[in-house]
Amino acid sequence: MIRKICVAILLCVAAASSPVTAQQPAPKPHAAIVILGDGTPLLSADRSGTSIGVVVRGTLYVFDAGPGVLRRILETRERLRLGIQRLGPVFVTHLHSDHTLGLPELLYYPGAPSLQLFGPPGIQSMLKRLQEAWAEDRQIRSASGMPSDQGLAATVNAATAQEIAAGIVYADSNITVTAFAVPHGTWPHAFGYRIVAPDRVIVISGDTSPSDAVVQACNGCDVLLHAVYDGENSLSGGDLTYFARFHTNTQELGGLAARARPGLLILYHQLFMGKLPADLVRQVAATFRGAVMSARDLDVY
Ligand SMILES: [Zn+2]
Ligand SMILES: [Zn+2]
Repeated sequence: MIRKICVAILLCVAAASSPVTAQQPAPKPHAAIVILGDGTPLLSADRSGTSIGVVVRGTLYVFDAGPGVLRRILETRERLRLGIQRLGPVFVTHLHSDHTLGLPELLYYPGAPSLQLFGPPGIQSMLKRLQEAWAEDRQIRSASGMPSDQGLAATVNAATAQEIAAGIVYADSNITVTAFAVPHGTWPHAFGYRIVAPDRVIVISGDTSPSDAVVQACNGCDVLLHAVYDGENSLSGGDLTYFARFHTNTQELGGLAARARPGLLILYHQLFMGKLPADLVRQVAATFRGAVMSARDLDVY
């Protein structure tokens, strides 16, 4: 129901192009969240690699770029009518493959004059090696006279990567993005992001074990997107130890969300472990009384 309401609001905003009278306040620009990929390392036809889009005034900001992200962006642009006109910066939470395998796709995003990457230490080296991987492709395309307005080679050449630390990492007239460090097993650098948009505060946890950093970043935020795994799993031994170190289960997330107090909690990067989306929602809702939804690819909030 909430998903339908959210979509209805978006459509209303999109349709509000008629003149505004002096008595009517101008509609606020709506920061739409689109799930570009709910997947984990375990992908399916319905769940593409981890990626979340935030659309503000025609710019699509991308948070993580899992495998298949470009196809989901094109589906969003062509079918969801969010008014996407340009690709903005791409923010990477950490360098696990399920969050970065889509980066080479974005290097070739059609129509993007440059790609601006933000991510943890190591992102510059990753970009450099990705560019090297397609060096021969660029050389052959440019040497064979490919028209510049179709310039895939120019796109990949223009990419830049900035290695970040906790704090404000990006700001423009649409959004301010603050990175906060999260504990993700043995990764030396993993981040979540807090996005302040014109009418919403959105927090993305990234992959993390239960962390007060998420609670503090949200602190009554409008939307918290949090990675999660089934808390009623049958894991044992080393498997259980691994997940406890790297991720947050449903019971842990319920308690965390009760303290973070988001207006809407969206479960993403969901490790179902044989359960259904409704099972994960039920488990979280046992301790968090607010609104909870299980993300699906191409959902809009
Ligand atoms: Zn992951
Ligand atoms: Zn990870």
